[in-house]
Amino acid sequence: MNKRQYTPKERMAIQRCKMVEQDAAARAGNFKEVNQGLAEAVAIEEANRCIQCKNKPCIAGCPVAVRIPDFLAKVAEGDFAGAAAILQADNALPATTGRVCPQEKQCEEVCIRGKGGKGQPVAIGWLERYVADWGMAHASAPVPPATRTKYKVAIVGSGPGGLTAAGELARIGHNVTVFEALHAAGGVLRYGIPEFRLPKRIVDREVANLEALGVKIECNVVVGKTITIDQITSEFDACFIANGAGVPEFLRVPGENLKGVYSANEYLTRINLMCAYDPQPGRTPILRAQTTVVFGGGNTAMDGVRTSKRMGSSRAILAYRRSRAEMPARAEEVKHAEEEGIEFMFLVAPLAILGDDKGWVRGVRLQKMELGPPDASGRRRPVPIPGSEFELECQVAIVAVGTKANPLLTATCPQLKLNKWGNIEVDANQMTSIPGVFAGGDIVRGGATVILAMGDGKRAAAAIDAYLKTK
Ligand SMILES: Cc1cc2nc3c(=O)[nH]c(=O)nc-3n(C[C@H](O)[C@H](O)[C@H](O)COP(=O)(O)OP(=O)(O)OC[C@H]3O[C@@H](n4cnc5c(N)ncnc54)[C@H](O)[C@@H]3O)c2cc1C
Repeated sequence: MNKRQYTPKERMAIQRCKMVEQDAAARAGNFKEVNQGLAEAVAIEEANRCIQCKNKPCIAGCPVAVRIPDFLAKVAEGDFAGAAAILQADNALPATTGRVCPQEKQCEEVCIRGKGGKGQPVAIGWLERYVADWGMAHASAPVPPATRTKYKVAIVGSGPGGLTAAGELARIGHNVTVFEALHAAGGVLRYGIPEFRLPKRIVDREVANLEALGVKIECNVVVGKTITIDQITSEFDACFIANGAGVPEFLRVPGENLKGVYSANEYLTRINLMCAYDPQPGRTPILRAQTTVVFGGGNTAMDGVRTSKRMGSSRAILAYRRSRAEMPARAEEVKHAEEEGIEFMFLVAPLAILGDDKGWVRGVRLQKMELGPPDASGRRRPVPIPGSEFELECQVAIVAVGTKANPLLTATCPQLKLNKWGNIEVDANQMTSIPGVFAGGDIVRGGATVILAMGDGKRAAAAIDAYLKTK
């Protein structure tokens, strides 16, 4: 335990810590994690920057309402076991969210230490990661309940939404089975977010923690094909659908069917889930290009372009139709990408993918844009500049402009009410139009974030528990 007591003035004088990062030039050629974590003394000092303010806005800023000041107080004392116990009770996947949450738009945005112009918020995300990793290293796994209820709950999809609901329900003692279409659990955490941001050993451990709580995970089960929602509702007492929004949107420009065009989902899945980075014969094939152009400005685009650099592209270019200020990607990813030599082309939109006479990509035709008034998203609309078209040579083009709901499951369950985009409609308790069937995460929201999916999972678990008590 750290007994050092800081005076309020000393606390205010501590500067925000810095994350140790792998050297930028080295990491642009490997898949090892970029952020290396905080040292113990640094974590304790950083936690002491929290002034334990009265209103605790950080808790409201967190979609799963982690008791942030409480776990920071434990870290500040050097009581990591105490901190881990609080985190694990509030957040089913803390080592993940500590790495991938857009903290700058959530808990850290409202941190009182970040207010007043020059202030810097407490590094809540990095401390969450520190405590979660400490918990894993010290085998501090969640404790399963002493007794089990008679109720059986099915979860569709093992992404962050499904896993969170599963953990919450198993903790209460319900018998939870997760059905996952792919051969490994984790959803986007497994097949989308690359190793250099979220090592798969972390996802493995988070999943193992849930299994330790009693959650059963059945992979290779495509709900809607292998089994239907009707079968699930007849066998289980309640169900939570969290099958994500995994169907990629495309650009709808000429040339999108050329060889060398990937959706970011396909490109990242081949590499992350199916190990295409491994050049051994028999592995999943992938094109390695000298120049790769990625379209988009979110986390998926950033992951695609940084992955293509690591796969050997000497020029890895991100083409985004708005400006840097409108990019939805996490600020840390943008910083890391710049350091790694990713080229950013702002205010350009694709007009066509260009092919050679054998049907392979040879380049893209782009048009320059300028920003007009805000559109429905609140961001300034990109407006084409006439006569500004130009060509850019590349061999691979990756499309990362969003995803939408996969109709595979919903098409087999017409009783599920959908909105015009094919997302499942739910009430304030995440209940769908079918009593006892709940839904959350990207299948309800459209492409959103890990922590919002987890928030839905947590809310749905509480509602499912209440529903089961009425049965
Ligand atoms: C490349 C990429 C990077 C991202 N980076 C970030 C980030 O840094 N920070 C952040 O907060 N968010 C990020 N996101 C968004 C975030 O990952 C998603 O919002 C989140 O994963 C949604 O969780 P979910 O549980 O709803 O669905 P998913 O994570 O999509 O999981 C759904 C699961 O359901 C399974 N499934 C689908 N259909 C069926 C079926 N019919 N039967 C059984 N199983 C099925 C899928 O295989 C999948 O495993 C990123 C997304 C992508 C694609």
